[in-house]
Amino acid sequence: MNQLNLIWELEIQNEAIERYKIELANFNEYTRLKEMTQKSNEVKLSLNLIEEKISMGNQEIRKLERSLKESDYLKKKLENDLYGGSIRGGKQLEQLTHERERTIEKIDNLESSILELLDRLDNLEAEHDNLEREHVLILNEIDNLQEIIEALVKKHNSKIYKLEEERASLIPQIDRDILARYEASRLKRGKGIVPVIDDVCSGCNVRIPTYLLQDLRKQEEFIYCESCGRLLYYIEKDEKEKIGI
Ligand SMILES: [Zn+2]
Repeated sequence: MNQLNLIWELEIQNEAIERYKIELANFNEYTRLKEMTQKSNEVKLSLNLIEEKISMGNQEIRKLERSLKESDYLKKKLENDLYGGSIRGGKQLEQLTHERERTIEKIDNLESSILELLDRLDNLEAEHDNLEREHVLILNEIDNLQEIIEALVKKHNSKIYKLEEERASLIPQIDRDILARYEASRLKRGKGIVPVIDDVCSGCNVRIPTYLLQDLRKQEEFIYCESCGRLLYYIEKDEKEKIGI
C-alpha cells in the first residue's frame, strides 16, 4: 500500500470508529428506556399515594369502629336503665328514650359510614392491584431494554476495539508529516481525505478538472481539491458500492 492508500484506509477506520461511537452514545439516550423509566416513577408515585390513602382509610375505620362499640355499649346501658324498672318519673323516661333514639341514630350513621369507607377501600385496593400489575410489566420492559442495550454496547465496544487495533497498525506505516497534515485537515474540516465520486469532490461537490482526473486515477500522488483544499482519493464505480457510498 502506498502512502495515499494508507491515508485512505486510515480515514475509513476513523470514520467507522466515529460512527460506532455516535451510535454508542445514542444507546444511552435511548428514548424508550427513558420513557419507561419515567413511567415507572410515575406509577410508583401513584402506588405510594394509594397506599397512603388505604392506610388512612383503615385508621379511620378503626376509629369509627371504636365509636360504634362505645355507642353500642351506651345503647345497652340506656336500655337497661329504661327497662330495668328503676325509672323514677316521666321526665327521666322521656330523657332516656330521647337519648336512646339519638344513640340509635348515631349507630346507624356510624354503620353506614363504615360501609361507605369499606367500599372506597375496596376500590382503592382494586386500583392498587391494577397499577401494581402495570408496574411489573413496565419493570419487565425496562429489564429487557437494558439487556438489549447492554448487548449492543458490548458489541459496539468490541467493534471499536478491533477498528482501533487496525488503525494502530496503520499509523506506523504512514510518513509522519503526511499524518500530521491529515490529522490537521480532519480537525479543521471533519475529514482528512475525501473520495472523488463521479468526477466530483465529495467534500465540496465541485467537479474535478479533467487534467487532474488522469493523475487521481493512479492513486499515487497527493492531490488536493482546488476548490476546498481537501486531499482527494479517486474511487472507481465498482469500488463505490464496496465501501457503501
Ligand atoms: Zn473540494
